[in-house]
Amino acid sequence: MEIINNIGKYLQPNRAWFNRDESTIKKITVHHDAIPHNSNSADANMRIIMNTHAGNGWPGAAYHYYIHRDGKVYQLNRHSWVTWHDGHNYDSIAILVTGYFHTPHNNRVTAQQKESLFKLLDKLKVDLKLKNSDIVGHRDRMASACPGDLAYPLIAEYKTTPPINPCYTLDTDIPTEVEDARNLKSVGRYNRHWTFNQLMDDWVVVVNELNKKINEVVELRSDKTKLETKITQLENSSKIQDQNLEKKINEITKLETQISQLKGYKSQNELLQANLEKMASENASLKGDLEEVNNKLDSMEKTQQGLAQSLELLSTALSGVKRVLNTDKPEEFEEKIQNLLIKIETLEEKEKLNLDEFTITQKLLSILLDILSKLNIK
Ligand SMILES: [Zn+2]
Repeated sequence: MEIINNIGKYLQPNRAWFNRDESTIKKITVHHDAIPHNSNSADANMRIIMNTHAGNGWPGAAYHYYIHRDGKVYQLNRHSWVTWHDGHNYDSIAILVTGYFHTPHNNRVTAQQKESLFKLLDKLKVDLKLKNSDIVGHRDRMASACPGDLAYPLIAEYKTTPPINPCYTLDTDIPTEVEDARNLKSVGRYNRHWTFNQLMDDWVVVVNELNKKINEVVELRSDKTKLETKITQLENSSKIQDQNLEKKINEITKLETQISQLKGYKSQNELLQANLEKMASENASLKGDLEEVNNKLDSMEKTQQGLAQSLELLSTALSGVKRVLNTDKPEEFEEKIQNLLIKIETLEEKEKLNLDEFTITQKLLSILLDILSKLNIK
């Protein structure tokens, strides 16, 4: 809020107010000027006021502050000047809200005036170390309608309205130790600018923040514990899985070994089968050979039998030849030989002797017959 400095501007020439120590100021008195005017000019209004008050024989415009309809605030007198305004004067300063807020004119306090009044009261409370109870209307100080029925309730409203200006006053001083402990001065938050309630609000915010943080920490801790438990579980299950995996890998390795063995067996088996087939065909061939051998053996056996018979015949023939050689009757012998030949032929028919063997026998017999015929001739 800007305060326009018009100090001394509306003072009569060669006139002055009494002086005082600012620490003696204990009240702030709110006034209206009760001059029926609607001028847009603050200066014109202040001159009217000056002239009116000068007419009372006073040094000049008596109010310390003037609040125009547009909300602009002007300071007319120093706080240390004792002006005449509420019947007490020495212990108070005066704020004028310009207008006639009472019958018969019933002006209204503008919104800008109200806002400026509240801000100015905030500032003055701080500067003069005053409390809400030190703010009064002119009518509280003496018999007067001032500041008018339409403005007076603003004083009570101000006291129950939270400050709208960031510059606050204190109802109770904050102990210096607290200011220092919280380092309030360094951030401009000290007695002269902050109410205790505001600080308490700050504290509540801080405490709420702290509580929130504490809850967060508690939650985080519980989350941490849960996570740790989960990690442990996961680690354990991971170990088990690792073991299972190792087992499975071992099983797979075994299976692979078995598979490669089986593959070896398979190729061996194929080899064996091929061999077997080869052997089977060899076997078949051997079987044929065997049959052939058997047949040959059979044939040889028959031949042998034939030969044995032939031999027997020859032996008989030889003994016959011997007997002929010792006999006188070759005719008989010839006859016997002829019979023998017939027998041999019969035998040949009967036994189906090998032709070669038979031919040999026959030749032998022919030779014998030849021998016999030569013997007969002799
Ligand atoms: Zn008054």
